[in-house]
Amino acid sequence: MNETTNKFLSTSVQYLKGIGEKRAQALQNAGVVTIGDLLQYYPRRYLDRSHIVRIGKLRPEQTATVVGRIITQGVKKGRRSRFVVLLSDDSGFLSCVWFAQVPYWQKLFKVGQTLAVSGKIGYFGGLQIVHPEFDLISDSGEDHEDEFLHTGKIIPLYPSSEALSRVGFDSRGFRRAIRNLFRNLDSPIEDSLPDAILQQQQLISLDEAFRNIHFPSDFEKLQQAKTRLKFDELFFLEFLLAYRKHNLSQQQKGIQFEKVGDRLKTLVDQLPFELTEAQKKVIREIRSDMKKSHPMYRLLQGDVGSGKTIVALVAILIALENGYQAALMAPTEILAEQHYFTFRSWLEHMEINVKLLIGGQRKVERENILASIENGECHIVIGTHALVQEHVNFHRLGLVVIDEQHRFGVAQRQILTEKGENPDVLIMTATPIPRTLSLTVYGDLDVSIIDELPEGRLPVRTSWRYENKRKEIYEFVRSKVAAGQQAYIVFPLVEESEKLDLKAATESYEMMSQDIFPDFKLALLHGRMKSDEKDNVMAAFKRGDIQILVSTTVIEVGVDVPQATIMVVEHAERFGLTQLHQLRGRVGRGSEQSYCILIARHPLTEDAITRLNTMISTNDGFKIAEVDLQLRGTGEFFGTRQHGIAEFKIADPLHDTALLEKARKIAFEIIDKPHELHQVIERIQHNSFVQNYKDKIEIMRIG
Ligand code: ADP
Ligand code: MG
Repeated sequence: MNETTNKFLSTSVQYLKGIGEKRAQALQNAGVVTIGDLLQYYPRRYLDRSHIVRIGKLRPEQTATVVGRIITQGVKKGRRSRFVVLLSDDSGFLSCVWFAQVPYWQKLFKVGQTLAVSGKIGYFGGLQIVHPEFDLISDSGEDHEDEFLHTGKIIPLYPSSEALSRVGFDSRGFRRAIRNLFRNLDSPIEDSLPDAILQQQQLISLDEAFRNIHFPSDFEKLQQAKTRLKFDELFFLEFLLAYRKHNLSQQQKGIQFEKVGDRLKTLVDQLPFELTEAQKKVIREIRSDMKKSHPMYRLLQGDVGSGKTIVALVAILIALENGYQAALMAPTEILAEQHYFTFRSWLEHMEINVKLLIGGQRKVERENILASIENGECHIVIGTHALVQEHVNFHRLGLVVIDEQHRFGVAQRQILTEKGENPDVLIMTATPIPRTLSLTVYGDLDVSIIDELPEGRLPVRTSWRYENKRKEIYEFVRSKVAAGQQAYIVFPLVEESEKLDLKAATESYEMMSQDIFPDFKLALLHGRMKSDEKDNVMAAFKRGDIQILVSTTVIEVGVDVPQATIMVVEHAERFGLTQLHQLRGRVGRGSEQSYCILIARHPLTEDAITRLNTMISTNDGFKIAEVDLQLRGTGEFFGTRQHGIAEFKIADPLHDTALLEKARKIAFEIIDKPHELHQVIERIQHNSFVQNYKDKIEIMRIG
């Protein structure tokens, strides 16, 4: 262990020669606190001769990077006064022009400096770039970076900001500070990975990687440095997931659900359908998990309509058969009620006591339910987050099922789980997560995937239209409803504009029932209605007594009315892709052809158009999730509730797929190799780079 180097790297940047308090503050605002952080402040790109175009070869309209020396600089007066820097690289002249902040540029640029500039080449009495991106390469020949022009060295360009530039941290400032950092290191940086892994994976040492990510000796080394540093990030993340999983499952004593029982067969036999192969496969996986002596932590992924509910019920029956209770938590009352009714009908004649626990139940009713959960009379309780409240106590909770898990916070799941003694946990989601990402987010859960839809389903036909086509759309709805089908018309409702949204939905509902569809039965459904009102509406819609359900997004997830075939989404441009896909998933659940019509309003952003076009181009939830992820980035994709996605400095789990899989494999193997396991844990505790991961795991608890 090299203590001095470790200490040096965890020291505040302020103490690095040439930085001082004021500059340190600017760095700190950019997230660079310690000298080690500075070492991990990686270049955003690199400049080498092969990227650079000689000025003599430039053509107008081309986008290019040019390196040249400042010949003159100054303000040009004219119709608009501007600041002009004239560059030359011996093959020609290029003007760089700025129209604003003239005094700032005037102070920054000096004759004799070498600049790298990028941008679109224009022509205005000579070649020029307006407001180029630029990096200061060197001052009048004093820096040895000047050799760059002649030697073909690779120059790192660092991300900067105006605040950073003001205190001298432009690209050149970072290069100087980091070069200085390396000069002050009195021994090589200690490696974070055991030798065995380095050799096996043919990775260069951490020390060499850091040196070459900043000052690559050549492109091959740069590539190796990137690979090494990415591997580190991915490996430690996966290692912590593996370690956590190991601790959870191997060391915790769970329930061994031995019996399967006859009732399971009865259930399956009396279902109105055959289970799909995919359903059977995941049932086997769950069954085998439940038999084991440590608790199950399994994520069940399956696109909307793939039939996750019945899988959940099978798991629940197994728990019951072994003398335990089961709880199922759903994100909305409507969904909890639906599950309640579905279960009751599937379990008819089985003497299984199913209860529903949601907010807004009458006090007496509620107390009876709570008592039966506590004394064990109730076998299955289905509910909303009402389940996680303090006074809900179980007699013998053996299985927790969470439906549509992305709608819950981590804490809620945890609280419910803690109401049993290491119960098995089954988490279900219809928000497919691209595989690579699921490895970083759910890496400590076992994953089962239902990758096929029940037979006979026709893909939903989707289209999007501007609202000036509303008349035709209503005509279409009319023709279908007149032929005996049912429709949803959905309005957006978001918290920030809830009142307005609700008003819009209500007014449209009134207009539709009076003027447009006076001969049909319509109903309005929204989250502000009382539980039993919502109930009645849903039940009537299910029975077919209501033909058109005008609703806010309360029906977004889970709702299952197979005979509904038309989904009209108003203000479709306001919905995210995952939401639109969920909404569309409300139709296409039976054997009839279903339709989804997205109504959009001007003006549409580019992203909105991408979303709408994606919806019409595919029905595949995984593809949709990929696009959603590209559009929103990982953070947004999971919403603010879903914490714990690691932030990567250099790795990109969406693109570094092969490396991620490799890192994951090794990480999970190490858990069973005591010697290497010990080495890695020791490094996590002592090595200043790996320590970053310690906190990450704390917020990664998903359970
Ligand atoms: P989700 O995966 O979206 O939760 P559900 O469990 O609500 O899907 O199932 C969607 C619909 O498909 C339900 O009406 C359900 O009864 C039905 N279903 C489930 N499995 C099958 C199957 N194997 N064959 C036919 N229909 C099925
Ligand atoms: Mg569902």
